[in-house]
Formats: sequence, C-alpha cells, structure tokens
Amino acid sequence: MSRFPEPGILPSEAREILTRLGVGGDALRGPRAACSPLTGEVLAHVPEMGAGEVERAIARAHAAYLAWRTVPAPRRGELVRLFGAELRAVKADLAALVTLEAGKIASEGAGEVQEMIDICDFATGLSRQLHGLTIATERPDHRMMETWHPMGVVGVISAFNFPVAVWSWNAALAFVCGDAVVWKPSEKTPLTALAVDAVFRRAAARFGDVPEGLSTLVLGGRDAGEALVDDARVPIISATGSTAMGRSVGPRVAERFGRAILELGGNNAAIVCPSADLDLTVRAVAFAAMGTAGQRCTSLRRLIVHDGIYDALVARLKTAYGSVSVGDPRAAATLVGPLIDGAAFGTMQLALDAARAAGGTVTGGERVGEAALPGAFYVRPALVEMPAQTDTVAAETFAPILYVLRYGAFAEAVRLNNEVPQGLASSVFTTDLREAELFLSVTGSDCGIANVNIGPSGAEIGGAFGGEKETGGGREAGSDSWKAYMRRATNTINYGMKLPLAQGVTFEV
Ligand code: NAD
Repeated sequence: MSRFPEPGILPSEAREILTRLGVGGDALRGPRAACSPLTGEVLAHVPEMGAGEVERAIARAHAAYLAWRTVPAPRRGELVRLFGAELRAVKADLAALVTLEAGKIASEGAGEVQEMIDICDFATGLSRQLHGLTIATERPDHRMMETWHPMGVVGVISAFNFPVAVWSWNAALAFVCGDAVVWKPSEKTPLTALAVDAVFRRAAARFGDVPEGLSTLVLGGRDAGEALVDDARVPIISATGSTAMGRSVGPRVAERFGRAILELGGNNAAIVCPSADLDLTVRAVAFAAMGTAGQRCTSLRRLIVHDGIYDALVARLKTAYGSVSVGDPRAAATLVGPLIDGAAFGTMQLALDAARAAGGTVTGGERVGEAALPGAFYVRPALVEMPAQTDTVAAETFAPILYVLRYGAFAEAVRLNNEVPQGLASSVFTTDLREAELFLSVTGSDCGIANVNIGPSGAEIGGAFGGEKETGGGREAGSDSWKAYMRRATNTINYGMKLPLAQGVTFEV
C-alpha cells in the first residue's frame, strides 16, 4: 500500500525540469538550500536576498508601474493571456516541480498549474470589464461616476502549500489592473517560484514592451518579507500564510496606511446531518481531510456529526483512512504525499498528544517510511474522536488530522462550526432544505466559504476566495476581488452654467 521514492535521483530530475523551464545559471547559485519533502534531499541552492535587494526591486517595480498604468487595460490583458499560453505549454513540467518541491500528488500539482491558467483566462476577460458606476446626482446638469485606477506596487508574500497558484491569483489581477508585482515566495519553495518567473519572462518577451521590473521575484526569508511590508512605495501587501504571520504583517501595513489582503489560517468544519448522502459524504470528507496531506488552508479539520449517524459514518471513515495509500506523490496510486518537513511532523505529534490528553481517541497519525527515508516525513492521516471542542481542536494544525465531534441539535452544530478563531471554509452535508439554507443564512456559518454537499477545500477561481476572523478578511481571485488592486475615484462633472451645492447649501460671493 505504501511506496516511497528512491533517494539519490531527485536532484538530477529537478535539474532537468528546471532546465526545460528555463531556470539555470545564477538563479541556481546561492546560500539557501531548496529541499524536497519527498526524500529530504537538497535539490539545488538558490540566492538569498536581503533588505537592500528588496529595496532595489521595489524601486524598479515602482518605475515599471508608472509606465504600465498608462497601457490600456485590454492591452495589459494581452500580457496575461500570453502568460496563460506559456503556462499551458509547460504545465506538465511545472506541475512535476510543484510535486518535487511541495510534495503534492501528481494530480494536485497539475491542478495547481491549471488554477494558474484559469486565473489568466479570467483576468484576460476582466481586462475589458474594469468598470465603475454612473450614479444619480441630486444636482441639475451634473453627472457623477466612479473611475478605477491602478494602485502601484503589489507585494505578494506566499506560503509553501500553494507555491505557484497564490502568486497567480494576485499577479494576474494586478497586471490587468495596471499594477506591478514584487513576489516574496515561501523560503520552502523557491524553485517553483524561479520557474514561474522564467515562464513569465517568456510571456513578457513575446508581448514586447513590458517595463523592466513589472514582475520581480525576491527570494528570502522573513527579513525579505518584512522589507516589503514596511515599504511605503508598496500600497498593497497581499500576504498568504499563518495567522501568526498575519498578526505581524497586518498592523505593520496599517501603521503606514497601506492596504493588506490577508489570507491566513483556517480551521474548517463540516456538519453531517441525519439526512446526508453518506456515500457522497465519505468521498468528500476523505478528499477534504486527507488531500494535500492536510496541508491546504481549506483542509477539513473538524467533522461535526449527528448522534444518529455517528457510528455508521465513523466506521466508514476508519475504513477509508486505513486503506488510503501514503507514499511517493508521483505514484498514480498515492493519495497522500509527505508533510513539508520535520517541524510539521513535530507539530502534528504535539497536537495528537494534546488531543489524547484531553480524552481523544486517535486512529492513525504514525510516521511511515522512516527507515528508508529518515529525512522525509510521511504520516498516516489521523482520525481523532473528541469528547469536546478543546483548545487543540480550535487551533489550526497544518497536518492531516481530522477531529470528529458529535452533535444533537442543528443549532449546536452551527455553534461548534463557528466557535473557533478562524473563519475560512465550511460545509454542511444534508438533503434537508431547511438545514442547508439555515447554514448559508446570516445565522449560519460565519466563514468566507460555506458549501452544501461538497467539502470545504478545492475552490474554483471564479468565486472570491478568503475568510473572516483570524483568517484575515482578504478576498482574492474571482468575483469583484479585482477592486482590491485598484483605487476608486468618485468624479462629479458640472456641464451647466450654475453652481448648485449639494444638500441645498448656499454660498454666494
Ligand atoms: P508561514 O506563515 O510560515 O509563511 C508564509 C509566508 O510569510 C512565507 O513566505 C514567509 O517567509 C512569510 N513570513 C513569515 N513571517 C513573516 C513576517 N513577519 N513578515 C513578512 N513575511 C513573513 O506559512 P506557511 O507555513 O508557509 O503556510 C501555511 C499557512 O498558510 C497555514 O496557516 C495555512 O492555513 C496558510 N494558508 C492560507 C491560505 C489562505 O488563502 N487563507 C492559503 C495557503 C496557506
């Protein structure tokens, strides 16, 4: 049931993929090691940029913005269309690199690149739809309207678990909105970032006259992120990562009156009601809780099950958890790849210990493949039956742990769904119309994403993505998320000969 990758092969495999993607030379020289969670091996070394280099990147990006903002938006959309075309051409290689560097199974690696392509298509269409309103005015011979203008440099800070898609959600919109982008990817996934940068450069070369610095990659750790966060020439910071990171970034951006788009931790629940279709529910729960080895911000972490179906559902889930194949994410049969690193494994074990101490019963959660691969961290997903929603359950542990809780009345289930600090994604499984509608209503789920008969993970780019409370409140990708990357000007035009004042005020000189 388990197959693990052979050590010794991945570095050369990664080199070959990087070469095909156009990454080499100085981009692969530097002090920082890029590792693969598949074996724990170092795949390559990359540069590390300090505050000075970030400062210079911002200066170039600002200059690029001043030129780019005057390019008509549909023409800006053409650049994003070309980028999408380049991505289509390299989808398999980029997806394979996502798998090598972030540990996603092959179909999820490919899905992540597909998401990049989808947002490019979306943004290309959007480039002809950045429209404001015409508003009724109380003054005769006047017209009132709103105009949307580019903002400037968008700083994008991204997490390891969506190493390429998150940048694209931001960058594709930012480019059509007339902004420039400086990207600080996770220090755990620099190779995929270098690859995306190379692909974008090819699109820019095809486009022809893209200002130098429109898209800049700065590789580094927290210091590089902080340099971006504190720079007043960066009016928008879009930061994706842990709530701890957002707690630092949010106030720093606010201090200088910048705009922060925060996409932080989630602690996503699903309620399973007595009328739920259990076949569908088991499949949805399995994917949402174990997919990406529980390392999605939208991973299902809490299952709130009605007393009447609890035993039947938990028995079926135990069977699913026992049969799921953990191992090499490149193997077709594998559904659960590795955790990103040893720290993630340590955090997972601490959470399981705390759950046991609070009366929880743990099934699974143990490390596998350790003898063959001491530097890689593969675990069996854990199912934890809990007597109550304890502090451990209320915290996000970025690992495949599904806490199962019981409920009696639907109101209690909704209360449990909402009684955590995070507010990203949520679901209800029911065929009862009243329960479904209540869950989506004002007194239902308090999350940014609320679903019916589908798990909380696996969003499409057409909708606005993000969550409330400690998830940060940001929205990205579809719907009208583009407005966060532009500034709105309200314009009043007097085409008459008089000067009527609003609210009947008179002022004659
Ligand atoms: P992380 O917070 O450790 O790091 C994320 C990024 O922030 C990295 O690039 C890191 O270098 C940078 N960073 C960290 N501290 C910083 C600071 N003080 N100032 C500036 N930059 C800083 O997160 P991670 O471990 O890479 O990712 C996992 C977390 O991300 C989880 O909590 C997950 O829920 C969250 N996440 C959220 C979303 C979402 O859309 N809501 C999406 C993906 C991941």
